[in-house]
Amino acid sequence: MAKILKKTPDQLFSMKMRASQGGPHEEGGRHISGQERIVDREHLESCVHSMIERAHTHQRGFADFINIKIELIDLDEVAYKPILKFSEVTVHNLEEGRQAAFDELVAAGVSEKAARNGIDAILALPDSMRGAMIMDAVSGERLDNLGMRGVRVSDMDVAKPEDFKDALDAIGLTSEHAREAMVLAAKVASSEDSVAELCWSDDPQYTIGYVASPKNQYRRIPYLKPAGDMLGGRVFYVKPGTDIQKYRNYMEHQITFITANEDGYITDNPDFEKNEIVGN
Ligand code: AMP
Repeated sequence: MAKILKKTPDQLFSMKMRASQGGPHEEGGRHISGQERIVDREHLESCVHSMIERAHTHQRGFADFINIKIELIDLDEVAYKPILKFSEVTVHNLEEGRQAAFDELVAAGVSEKAARNGIDAILALPDSMRGAMIMDAVSGERLDNLGMRGVRVSDMDVAKPEDFKDALDAIGLTSEHAREAMVLAAKVASSEDSVAELCWSDDPQYTIGYVASPKNQYRRIPYLKPAGDMLGGRVFYVKPGTDIQKYRNYMEHQITFITANEDGYITDNPDFEKNEIVGN
C-alpha cells in the first residue's frame, strides 16, 4: 500500500463536528449538520473554521450548538479501502426515483420487504436523524435501537485528496456532497456485513440520493425527494445475524482512508453519461 500515501504525516487527527438547534442532540436539539474528516496538524485550524461555517450557514437552519471533537489517531490502525465505481440511474421524476431506489436495493441483495421498510422508515421520520438506521436486509427489522441518533460513520477521509478530486472531476462530480457521499459509501460497503446502503440528503436543495452496495457499487439516483424538503436519511442494510455492536464499532471507530482508482476513473461504464445534476 506504499503507493497510497507517499509520505504519511507524523500526526493525523480525526475531526468530528455535530451541530444542532435548540440545544445539544442528547437534550432534544434538532440535527442541523455534521462532518467528519482526518487532517494533519497544519490543517486543523482551517478545518475547524470550515466546520463552524458549515454549521452556521446550513440550509436546515442556524445551529446554536456545535460540538467539535479532535483526536490524534493511531497510524498503526489505518485501513485503506477502495472508492466504489460510480454510475447513475436515469429517472425523470420523484416517483421513478423512489421506484429506482427499491429496484436497486433488491438488485443489491435486499429483500423486497426490507427495501420497502427502509424507504418507508426514512419517509416516516419526524425530522432528519443525526446518523443512519441499521436494518436487517432480509427481515427489514431495524436493529440499532439508537432512535434519532442512529449510527454515525466517522474516522474516515480520502487517502490522497488530489487523486480523489481528479477521479471525481473526471466524471463531473465536483460538489462537497458528492465527495463526502462517495467516502462514506465506500467505508460502509467495505464492511463484510454490509449488503447495501440507501441514502438521500437532508439538505433541502439537494434532491439526489443513492443506493450503494458491494455488489453493484455506487448507483446515484437524481430524484429521491422534492426540492425544498428538509427530510433525508440513511439506512445500512446488514446480513442477518450481524453482530451490531461490532458493526457499529467498525463504522464509528475504524480509521479508514478511501483510495481512488489508479487510472483516475471511477466508473467502468464507457458509455456513462451524466443526467442533469441538481445542485452539483
Ligand atoms: P447528508 O447526506 O449529509 O445530507 O445526510 C443525510 C442523512 O444521512 C442525515 O440526515 C443523517 O441521517 C445521515 N448521515 C449523514 N452523515 C452521516 C454519517 N457520517 N454517518 C451516518 N449517517 C449519516
